Amino acid sequence: MDDAMASETIFSQILRGELPCDEVYSDELCLAFRDIEPQAPVHILLIPRKPIVNLTHIDVEDKELLGHLLIIASKVARSEGLESWRTVVNNGVDAGQTVFHLHIHIIGGRPLSWPPG
Ligand code: AMP
Repeated sequence: MDDAMASETIFSQILRGELPCDEVYSDELCLAFRDIEPQAPVHILLIPRKPIVNLTHIDVEDKELLGHLLIIASKVARSEGLESWRTVVNNGVDAGQTVFHLHIHIIGGRPLSWPPG
């Protein structure tokens, strides 16, 4: 699996405007949109425009981008009125990753149990 795979996912189609999404936030580095199968009242996906498969494929050159994503995750969660919320990055098939373009789930709006499944 390499980053070429991330350029051919449903999320890259969304980034290219070929598939619609319920957009929440957009800038030159990333895009946030509502999950099509929400697991909570708020369930947003935040993705980098750069095609990265997952956290296994990040490099030191991605340091600024990854910091930016966390800052935007916080901004998006606050803009949704959330005080308690969870970020999830499923990394690899056994962890539940189904779309191989890095994405941060931003989940909230109901009590969330721990540990996850
Ligand atoms: P993961 O299982 O961590 O790879 O997460 C992929 C997420 O993408 C799932 O929560 C799906 O519901 C969501 N998803 C798949 N296709 C779309 C789409 N077209 N628009 C919004 N969310 C989607």
